[in-house]
Order: sequence, then structure tokens, then C-alpha cells
Amino acid sequence: MNKIIGINGGTFDPIHFGHLRPALEVLMSLGLDEVKFVPSYHPVHREKPVVSALHRCEMVKLAIQRQPMFTLDTTEVDRQGASYMVDTLASLKQQNVDATLVLMMGTDAFANFHQWHQWQEILQIVNIVVMKRPSCQKDYSDASMQILNNHRVTQLSAVFGQIIELSVTQLDLSATALRGFLQKNEAVDYLMPASVVKYIKQYNLYRE
Ligand code: ATP
Repeated sequence: MNKIIGINGGTFDPIHFGHLRPALEVLMSLGLDEVKFVPSYHPVHREKPVVSALHRCEMVKLAIQRQPMFTLDTTEVDRQGASYMVDTLASLKQQNVDATLVLMMGTDAFANFHQWHQWQEILQIVNIVVMKRPSCQKDYSDASMQILNNHRVTQLSAVFGQIIELSVTQLDLSATALRGFLQKNEAVDYLMPASVVKYIKQYNLYRE
């Protein structure tokens, strides 16, 4: 059987349980063989990350070290420049020719999927799983809603270009909120792995 690989992109600035638990639930419910966490180097649809790619990769490494099916993928960091997901997926597909790739994203990310660079190409390479995210104020644009309607399935097969929506445990967490706590020197324990909390303290990250 061919491998099914989840691709979980993000800034991970920092990584938190809202990234990790939904990824595990998607892994279990779709029977994925692996989830690759892909920190973006220079995200194109948002402001620049606060801490360096090196720190963000180290935090991902620490966060996933006990889950062998989670891996860190540094494709975007190694490539540098603008982190277009379409380029990343093309290169991951080249490296995993026989695998089915499933791009994972929260509802906030899918809301503007029609604005992603070459989104049509993305659907030629992967399937997409949209994870429902709490307190997501963003409504889907009409164009993204139409893409969903045209590609929606209730069960994924090996054919690319399918979109499935999955409910995951609703964890109302965001990296923005965590950076806010850290800036005020407030505790972030129990919102992210203890190893990541320790790393942030060790390097005094997010204090200004
Ligand atoms: P920020 O607050 O800095 O925007 P973030 O917490 O949204 O960060 P990102 O690294 O930008 O995290 O998100 C990467 C991916 O993880 C996106 O697809 C996003 O929808 C998803 N995601 C982030 N937090 C959650 C959550 N609490 N529940 C479900 N999905 C989430």
C-alpha cells in the first residue's frame, strides 16, 4: 500500500497544542502514515515570524520528539525566499512519488484559499483536509466556498484534488495569544509541550 503523508504547514511561532492535537486526530482518522510539520521561512500571506526559522524548527523538533509519526520537514527553511506552498508540495511530491499527500489546514487558512499562489496547481498534487478551528471569525470567501463545493468528499481516496472537512477537538489556542502571554511574562504551561516552554525560557524568546 502506498504511504499517505500529511503536510502540516505553518509559522509555528511558537508551536502549541492547537497544532499538535488536531494533527494527531487527523493522522488517526485518515490513517496517515506520517505528518510532516513544515515551518514556513517567509510566509506570503501574513507578517514575518517573530523568531528565527532556526528557533521555530528547534521548537517543532522538541514538540514532536515523542511521536514517531510526526516529523520535521525543513523544505521551506532550506529553500529560503517566499514560502509558496505550491513549490513545497511539488518538491515533496518529487521526493515521495508513490505517496498520497494530504495538505492539512485550519478553517482560517482555507477561508482565503482562493488567494493562495497557484491554488489550482496545489489541487493537482494533493488532497486537502480542513480542520475546524474554534473562534475562527473568518468566513470562507465565496471563491473558497465554491472550491470546497466543487472538490468536497466525505471519504478520501488516492486521487488528488479532493477536499475533506474534519472535526477535531476544539482547542481555542493561537500562537498570537501565546506570544501575548510571553511578552507579559505570563505562564504558558499546559498550552504547549513542557519542552517547548523550557526552550522559550532558555532563549528568552518573545519578550519584546
Ligand atoms: P498565529 O496566531 O501567529 O497566526 P497560529 O496559531 O494560527 O499562529 P500557524 O502556525 O499560523 O498558527 O498555523 C498553522 C496551521 O495550523 C494553520 O493551518 C492553522 O489553521 C492551524 N491551526 C493553528 N492553531 C489551530 C487550532 N487551535 N486548531 C486548529 N488548527 C489550528
